[in-house]
Amino acid sequence: MSDHDLQQPPPIPPELQSEYEERPFQNCTRCGESLPDFPGGFQISKAYKRGECVMEYALCDHCRTQMMEEFSQESKKRLAQFQDEQVILDRGLDSCAVCNARRDAPGLDDFVITGVCEGVGLLHSVMICGKCGDGVQGIISQKTKDTWRRFVDENFPGPPVDSLPEPEETFNTPVPVMSKV
Ligand SMILES: [Zn+2]
Ligand SMILES: [Zn+2]
Repeated sequence: MSDHDLQQPPPIPPELQSEYEERPFQNCTRCGESLPDFPGGFQISKAYKRGECVMEYALCDHCRTQMMEEFSQESKKRLAQFQDEQVILDRGLDSCAVCNARRDAPGLDDFVITGVCEGVGLLHSVMICGKCGDGVQGIISQKTKDTWRRFVDENFPGPPVDSLPEPEETFNTPVPVMSKV
């Protein structure tokens, strides 16, 4: 094994695979680009309610960036600040990046997990519990919420849409979109 191999990131864990397809995400949810060979990497997010995955998506870096550009300036600033001040990016998927609550703690059934990936490797992963996710809702603008809502409307009724949460609830998801780390 060469030095280069040793520096390879760990593989994307099963938790960040697509529940709907029952395999690793292959394509960008928004543009359909093939993810494993997308040069800029991609981001996976999965939202859980009452322990069930109710929404999942993978965004190529291009789409992630484009979506962020549509967020309002104010929201971007606040989200960046929130991330800088309150989010710890190295706790992985086991405990909340904000309050450190454990994902397997009793009663912690709502949360979002996110992975920043490149190829088949996982560069970073974060979990944000429902309570901390809700806190984020208060800091983003209506315009940003609308941008997100449009993304949801345009891209899902595919995957687990049966249980797609109401718009407000879905909002737990965008935060990690900001974490280009
Ligand atoms: Zn894309
Ligand atoms: Zn939390």
